[in-house]
Amino acid sequence: MVEGEIVMNKWARHILDEEDLSDWQFKWTFSDGLALHDQRMIWCASKDKALFLHEVAHALGSKEEDLRNGDKTGHHAHWGDRYTDLVRKYLVEATIHI
Ligand SMILES: [Zn+2]
Repeated sequence: MVEGEIVMNKWARHILDEEDLSDWQFKWTFSDGLALHDQRMIWCASKDKALFLHEVAHALGSKEEDLRNGDKTGHHAHWGDRYTDLVRKYLVEATIHI
């Protein structure tokens, strides 16, 4: 299913606001994703909702948390728990309600 960019923009903005990340911005790119804490910016492959939530889970953490958990990628257990919660909240449950 191809969704319009305006719909995706609204969806992404809604999630950032819901998750108390109102001061974060996002930009769509062709591939890959990145959450830049210093710039409060998420780069994400356009129309990839799961990848966007992956980056939001990074945005909800911190560089300090990643260092504490000794994982340069930031894909430690705390990140995984947040990602699972986000997928449940914004993909799985959102689908069930429709
Ligand atoms: Zn990641």
